[in-house]
Amino acid sequence: AIGGFAWMCYGIYQNRTPADQEDPDPRKKTLVVLGTGWGSVSLLKKLDTENYNVVVISPRNYFLFTPLLPSCTTGTIEHRSIMEPIRNFLRHKKAAVRYYEAEATKIDYEKRVIYVNDESEVKGSTSATEVPFDLLVVGVGAENATFGIPGVREHGCFLKEVFDAQKIRKRIMDCVETATFKDQPLEEVRRLLHMVVVGGGPTGVEFAGELQDFFENDLRKWIPEIANNFHVTLVEALPSVLPMFSKQLVDYTEQTFKEETIDIRTKTMVKNVTETYIEAEHTDPSGNKVLERIPYGLLVWATGNAVRPVVKDLMDQLPAQKDSRRGLAVNEYLVVKGTDNVWAVGDCAVANYAPTAQVASQEGAFLARLFNQVAKTEQIEQELAVLSEEQGTAQKDARDEALSKIKDLQKRLRRTKAMGPFEYSHQGSLAYIGSEKAVADISWLTGNVASGGQLTYFFWRSAYLSMCFSTRNRILVCMDWLKTQVFGRDVSR
Ligand code: NAD
Repeated sequence: AIGGFAWMCYGIYQNRTPADQEDPDPRKKTLVVLGTGWGSVSLLKKLDTENYNVVVISPRNYFLFTPLLPSCTTGTIEHRSIMEPIRNFLRHKKAAVRYYEAEATKIDYEKRVIYVNDESEVKGSTSATEVPFDLLVVGVGAENATFGIPGVREHGCFLKEVFDAQKIRKRIMDCVETATFKDQPLEEVRRLLHMVVVGGGPTGVEFAGELQDFFENDLRKWIPEIANNFHVTLVEALPSVLPMFSKQLVDYTEQTFKEETIDIRTKTMVKNVTETYIEAEHTDPSGNKVLERIPYGLLVWATGNAVRPVVKDLMDQLPAQKDSRRGLAVNEYLVVKGTDNVWAVGDCAVANYAPTAQVASQEGAFLARLFNQVAKTEQIEQELAVLSEEQGTAQKDARDEALSKIKDLQKRLRRTKAMGPFEYSHQGSLAYIGSEKAVADISWLTGNVASGGQLTYFFWRSAYLSMCFSTRNRILVCMDWLKTQVFGRDVSR
């Protein structure tokens, strides 16, 4: 805490503005970074921007701390507490970085150009243009998977962006208020108060836990007439939830959900979604498939990731990508296969790791080191060329001095060129499961520790707090937690 406070004071004292930064230099190579998520931001954080003309393109002019997004759906945390404006941290870089708020609609690999579109509501006279690149980092993430199931996009809510969390928060209160409307038939009340979550991965589990907390701690108290009918159901196609956690933690989660009265429907695959019910195929213990209709008021769809169209289009341009299905296949240095100047990080890259924030952030940091090293190597090589030329024409003493400098530079060059490939170091998995309990699979403590419960919940809180982007975010999140503890959550729409 003291370190964080000192760091914040230093940041405020330093208070660098874009006017203090070096201007972009057109003689340098242009490095374009697509996206402002975990991968791209972790790259930008560590990149020496004075070595390149850095251009960032993303439709989102902020970084979002996604692990706490489920807490925003119930107002435990306010969304601005987990957002960090991209310009806020770019102004601390030594050389200026250009930022364009736009969506990359196409990457033309042959022409080395990116087509971008300003998707915002306010349009200038230019809203579509192109940006050339010498080097490109694709960190655009993934979109929500629907597997082509009809009705999901129209009627379900996703949980990826701030506006998704806001939509869910509004929808919960809409369902509650409509259920208490005068003369509402009981069957309709039950439907409206049935909150269905599809997908038993960490996103679905954390959201279900947060929602049940909201009901137990706040809604039940302030709107007692909904108490008997409010119900959360988690639907999962596989035989158990949280497949990436150990069996012991899966059992612990399922037991905790039972106590919290969250219904878990495993081996149940959703096939169709309408405005008022989902159709799901359930496999019963004797292996028979039964189709059932489940009415709902709120439907949250959390079934993982799918490839974005701009990434799919780039894959179609590169024959080396023809066997890749889940995203851009990359080599051990994160270079997109079939290219020599394009890298990919995070959920849009396929590098044999799960698509998590942890992986993306380590990939981004690795690329920053790589780019810094390459720039350093080029600098040394230039110095060497100059010295070698001078040494040829110099007097003996000067020649000896130049020779020793050359040897020194050659040693440095070998060192900078010796960067190993990307290796992911797994720090563990954490998930909040409601009623102030969390599960953790952690490998770095003593071998492999799997723990669940209240102590793990405090660990979950401190781990997430330490992972927040800035001290400002940390303070805001702490204040939100305190506010929720003292005053409860806000039940307005
Ligand atoms: P996921 O891919 O982990 O889980 C989606 C689940 O939905 C799967 O278990 C799948 O069987 C199920 N499913 C798919 N289609 C279905 C259908 N039609 N009907 C019923 N169930 C269906 O998705 P996620 O939770 O969004 O996570 C995405 C990635 O992000 C994962 O790699 C995850 O590990 C990571 N993540 C991690 C954390 C954490 O560590 N706390 C939090 C969020 C996300």
